[in-house]
Amino acid sequence: MLRIGDENCTLCSLCETRINVVKNVIVPETEIAVLGLGPGENEDFEGTPFVGRAGQKLKEALYKNGINPSDISYLNSVLCRPPNNKLKKDYIICLKYFEESLKEMPNIKIIMVLGVDAYKFITGKTKAAMSSIYSIPFKLEKYGDILFYPNYHPAALLYKPDHIIEEKFVGGFRIMKEMLEASKTITKKNNYKHILNPEHLDIALNVLKRQEFFSFDLETTSLVPHQAKILSFNFSWEEKTGIAFPYYYINNGNLEYFWEEEQRNKIIETLKEIFSSDVKVTTQNGKYDSLVLKHNFGFGIKIAFDTMLASFLLDSNQNFNLDSITAREIPEEAGVKSEFWNSINADEEQRKEDWYLKISLEDLLDYGIHDADVTYRLTKILARRLNNVE
Ligand code: URA
Repeated sequence: MLRIGDENCTLCSLCETRINVVKNVIVPETEIAVLGLGPGENEDFEGTPFVGRAGQKLKEALYKNGINPSDISYLNSVLCRPPNNKLKKDYIICLKYFEESLKEMPNIKIIMVLGVDAYKFITGKTKAAMSSIYSIPFKLEKYGDILFYPNYHPAALLYKPDHIIEEKFVGGFRIMKEMLEASKTITKKNNYKHILNPEHLDIALNVLKRQEFFSFDLETTSLVPHQAKILSFNFSWEEKTGIAFPYYYINNGNLEYFWEEEQRNKIIETLKEIFSSDVKVTTQNGKYDSLVLKHNFGFGIKIAFDTMLASFLLDSNQNFNLDSITAREIPEEAGVKSEFWNSINADEEQRKEDWYLKISLEDLLDYGIHDADVTYRLTKILARRLNNVE
């Protein structure tokens, strides 16, 4: 076990009020670490992280999930006790000790980020709410393949005991363990096909017509259905497989049709025929896709299954966006999406606005097929659970 920090640190004003610098505790061979906010009263007194009541809660959750607390590393955003347990901006200088700690853990795979303050510390964001970050794994470009996984801070459970939050908190450790195990299994490579010429489009539309069941997803320019222009149509009918074709695309900075009128008509006519047949279509929040289709082409989709609704029915306390459901149900896909967002350097606001201006057509299609693929896979998992077959 190693300790990382500087007992004589005077980099910020916290040095004036602390009793001890609470150095990070590093188990060099570990794959798991937790990142907290900073020492509380007990930690400050003893000079060791997570020895107080919050630490006790944390260790209970680890035990419950078969993780020995002495096998993991304990990191804090700041190493000196912050008055009132609140972080101020200038304390991010402690990032230096976080990064030194990382260097001592060559096998580190997952860092559980405890609470909103630790999340802000590590991402540099100034705004965040636990209800929207909980259980959505992410990667950060500067820390490579390390998966960051947000969970509630155990202290939150002490201030305001709540059995739903408690369940989510303990469940977070289970999901973390599953993600860790899944990251070690070698899985089938994706077979994602981009349809970019008229011959392939004909074949793809014919193959689509033969399917009895598929997942469907649109990538669009806006979250407002009547303003949204369709960037890509995405489908999957087999695990890790899918196709996508563009509709509008960015040409020299302008939004233009990708296809000639003949192909556009073919797309619209074929989809109209397919969606008015008996085909079973599964979606993630397909009401939105249906409204976009209706607004653009005058027809919608009959939705046979929706992963967002199914997930809500199974546990109404969880989050229902696709990334969050995916982390819970398909841990091997954890963080795939955030790699993509990092690659185009898009922050949260841009994701909603002009993200499609930055991304290559190839990446857009891969992104869309991935959504369709996980929607297909989630449908199998959630439908089985809804039917109580498990
Ligand atoms: N809470 C934290 O965030 N860190 C500790 O070390 C103890 C409690």
